[in-house]
Amino acid sequence: MDCIFCKIANGEIKGNILYQDDKAVAFPDINPKAPTHILVIPRKHIASIADLPEADEALMGHLFTIANRLAKQQGISSDGYRLVVNCGPHGGQMVAHLHLHILGGRQLMKMG
Ligand code: 5GP
Ligand code: ZN
Repeated sequence: MDCIFCKIANGEIKGNILYQDDKAVAFPDINPKAPTHILVIPRKHIASIADLPEADEALMGHLFTIANRLAKQQGISSDGYRLVVNCGPHGGQMVAHLHLHILGGRQLMKMG
């Protein structure tokens, strides 16, 4: 399968890996929308949150735990940050491999 995030996760494309374990990998977004912009992905190819098998729900929790840890390591946790999962065309998803965005380091636009 020709998936850019699978290639980053399996080392086929060399990148700046900020965190990795047997289930997940985190690396900086190539086109950052905030001073800190990190992507956390499962190693397993899951196209989007809409394709997440119910049996993999713990994997999503794991991505959030990694995001929590990385936000602290990057020094953005106390000021706050945003976690985003885009899904499908209306959600603006561009890469069809499930990923969690960590955005921080500046005041983000309020949603309300
Ligand atoms: P989406 O809109 O699918 O939620 O976000 C995909 C994100 O992946 C975008 O923010 C984009 O900048 C990032 N991205 C796309 N291709 C690459 C790549 O090859 N390397 C990295 N590090 N990020 C990428
Ligand atoms: Zn993939």
